[in-house]
Amino acid sequence: MIDRSESESRKLLVRLRDTMAEEAAGQERLDKITHLTADSMGTEVCSVYLFRDDDTLELCATEGLKQEAVHRTRMKLGEGLVGRVARTGKMVNTADAPSERGFRYMPETGEEIFSSFLGLPIQRLGEKLGVLVVQTKDKREFTHDEIYALEVVAMVLAEMAELGAFVGEGAALKARHTQPTMIRGITGQEGTTEGHVWLHEPRVVVTNLVTEDPQRERDRLRTAVEQLRVGVNEMLEGASGEQLEVLEAYRMFANSKGWRNRMEEDIDRGLSAEAAVEKEQSVARARMSQVADPYLRERLHDLDDLSNRLLRILTGQGRETGAEMPADPILVARNIGPAELLDYGRRLKGIVLEEGSVGSHAAIVARALAIPLVIHAQRITNEALNGDHIMVDGDHGIVHLRPDDSVVSAFRDKIAMQAQAQERYTSIRQKPATSLCGKRVTLFMNAGLLADLPSLPTSGAEGVGLFRTELQFLIRNQMPRRKELVETYKRVMDAAGDKPVVFRTLDIGSDKVLPYMKPNDEPNPALGWRAIRVGLDKPGVMRMQIQALLRAANGRPLSVMFPFVAQYEEFRAARDEVQKAVAIERKLGRAVPEKITIGTMLETPSLAYASKKFFEDVEFISIGGNDLKQFFFAADRENERVRRRYDTLNVSFLTFLEGIVQRCSESGTPLSFCGEDAGRPIEAVCLAAIGLHKLSMRPASIGPVKSLIMRTDLDALYDVICDARERGEQSVRESVLEYLRWNG
Ligand code: PEP
Ligand code: MG
Repeated sequence: MIDRSESESRKLLVRLRDTMAEEAAGQERLDKITHLTADSMGTEVCSVYLFRDDDTLELCATEGLKQEAVHRTRMKLGEGLVGRVARTGKMVNTADAPSERGFRYMPETGEEIFSSFLGLPIQRLGEKLGVLVVQTKDKREFTHDEIYALEVVAMVLAEMAELGAFVGEGAALKARHTQPTMIRGITGQEGTTEGHVWLHEPRVVVTNLVTEDPQRERDRLRTAVEQLRVGVNEMLEGASGEQLEVLEAYRMFANSKGWRNRMEEDIDRGLSAEAAVEKEQSVARARMSQVADPYLRERLHDLDDLSNRLLRILTGQGRETGAEMPADPILVARNIGPAELLDYGRRLKGIVLEEGSVGSHAAIVARALAIPLVIHAQRITNEALNGDHIMVDGDHGIVHLRPDDSVVSAFRDKIAMQAQAQERYTSIRQKPATSLCGKRVTLFMNAGLLADLPSLPTSGAEGVGLFRTELQFLIRNQMPRRKELVETYKRVMDAAGDKPVVFRTLDIGSDKVLPYMKPNDEPNPALGWRAIRVGLDKPGVMRMQIQALLRAANGRPLSVMFPFVAQYEEFRAARDEVQKAVAIERKLGRAVPEKITIGTMLETPSLAYASKKFFEDVEFISIGGNDLKQFFFAADRENERVRRRYDTLNVSFLTFLEGIVQRCSESGTPLSFCGEDAGRPIEAVCLAAIGLHKLSMRPASIGPVKSLIMRTDLDALYDVICDARERGEQSVRESVLEYLRWNG
């Protein structure tokens, strides 16, 4: 049975819809809405306040307050009751507004005669647009039904604002999605680029908001939820690991009575099925921004994803909207998996993510493809529309959406300067990296995907100093087979030709979690069961990998390196595995490499103090500066708060590295450095100055690093470093920069 309040609110919605269908300017529409709402709810006042800018609200239309206050009365976020609703996103319902905490009297509106006040946020999918208020003279609190009715009006207002209903002559609202917007995020991969937005998951546009036939909408919703549930169950059948956990959460929501009941209640009030889904989605999004618990946030995200699926079913709008990908696409998404990113491949000119992390797989893939990436770009998926002009500054983590002319020209200058520099690097590509004082530095590249290999000839790298084999494992949904690995490694070796490739065995754990392996609940994964520790405790995968490397080499020389070795014994045990594998291959009559070189990463301070015997025994060492630095300073490389706190050019760290150089030179052990710092020109010349003459870095860094090495006297730079150290400077950076500037 439909109660009276439900049919009232449905009538109101139908009248709103008819108003919207009429030809009218934006302001006129808003005026009609306030009139209709006050009339239907029996209140003397109904007002709409909309955001003028991020923290100013403006009275844009009113029934009942003085008309001269419209577009004049403004308030700051948090100011007065309206400002409070806008700031907190929560309703204010009071019988006696003037005695309410924070009440502010606005004389120009004539509101002093009104006592009761009900204010609700106008928000769409977590985005605040304004505040909707009704007021009456008599002192009374508004009932649950009245609140509900007003919530539905607020929702319709938000939807219409999204559709541009209030834009136009005498506009009450600025046209959305037309203003230039700058969004600050975090660097995921350096580089600057310009292009047009391509939304990974285009927003579903709901145009039919109101219904007069709730029974039909309820049926539509029920059928859609059923379809969703069947879909989730099908996906569950083939799922495992983390994916299973997410799908279980989906299933929980899809079966949730509370969720369905709320949507059905919305429908009974006059919303269409899709508008009801979106209303609940908006509530969840608003909650999302207030929940600190990461687990709960994830679940709210799941609900959000599920709502999107449901909307697609209801509206028939698939991922494929018929829109054509622009020629210069910049991918915008909340988040994206590595495999999906690889599908797009090098077609993308840039990537902007609302979430993501520096160490995420998507970031790893973006780096491999050398595509500029900005992560943590808040609200980008709300702000951007397919085809919008967008400029991405990966160096500073800044995104300009629909930039104005001045930004465009400044940005293009920057891109042009970078292109010029790139040309300079091309001209030195075939030259050796020899310093002014005659020291020869060898520059290698880091890689991990087949997609990296075209960079080998184009970057000027002399080989691959670090091939991160885990990437092949991370980007798949299941463990790769040995046959597939043989094929991959073979293609890597073929592509490298005469140039050496150092294959690092599987480095998983910490931030690199395989999607198909049971996640380990560890209190501190970076210090946990990872890399060689997993390889030695559960040798199956490492053995398969070593075998695959031997077969791929098929007699050619092979270099193998172990990650995260903390003591000599671990190296010995890992090397035994290789030797055993060689013996087996021989027995099987297969070709074994003519020469196998076995080395290790130095990523924990402990290994720097290993016995002399270790340094004599190991065939080469590569310093993994990313991990080594995080353990040296006890500062998590994934934690934005502390990640940049300690400078690589800090004298303690440089002195420590110099100690490693010293030990290797005493034992004659070849030494290289393969952390991210090797690819930063200033850091790279300092590393070279203290004696690290083999550096391995991302391919795009080879040009800039080589260029600076060729223009630097490393002996003189070493003196600068020593002097700064002697003077007690914390970091030698300033002194080094001054020296480099002085020398052009
Ligand atoms: C390092 O730790 O410096 C390194 C090269 O390894 P990864 O970044 O893969 O941990
Ligand atoms: Mg490491």
